[in-house]
Amino acid sequence: MTRALLSLGSNLGDRGEHLRLGVAIVAGEEPHRISRVYRTAPVGGVEQDDFWNLALALETEASPVALLERARAAESAARRVRTVRWGPRTLDVDILWIDGYASDDPELTVPHPRMWERAFVVVPLAEIAPDVATPERVAAAGGEVSALGTLSEVL
Ligand code: AMP
Repeated sequence: MTRALLSLGSNLGDRGEHLRLGVAIVAGEEPHRISRVYRTAPVGGVEQDDFWNLALALETEASPVALLERARAAESAARRVRTVRWGPRTLDVDILWIDGYASDDPELTVPHPRMWERAFVVVPLAEIAPDVATPERVAAAGGEVSALGTLSEVL
């Protein structure tokens, strides 16, 4: 079993449901833990809803490529959930970190190259993987995030 750390985010439609579905598809029957859900104000001038983000720590038998396939399957499944509006950001799943593994393949870059800059990634991750998202990493990450509650509380 290998520990894999992922970030899930949604800012369109039923955000809690998209996160729930994403966790279910990525984790399947494998042991996992999730952080609380955090709300992030979107950056840039475009009018859009806040993002909801959480981090997932998975103990997995899957290869890195198989994990990426699960991430893509979760994103596709979320797009099929009926929403008022339709768009590509119903669910975004990023593979952040896999213990003992590094890759610079553009299809799967691990550790995720931009993870350390983003408070909406690093702050949730610190709840479930403080050895990776250290206090120094949390202090260095940019952006404001606030905890909404556990996933079951916000569903
Ligand atoms: P995005 O639309 O920003 O979610 O980017 C998705 C693309 O990034 C996919 O084509 C993936 O193959 C690629 N990618 C590269 N590294 C990663 C990673 N660590 N996790 C998820 N997708 C990745």
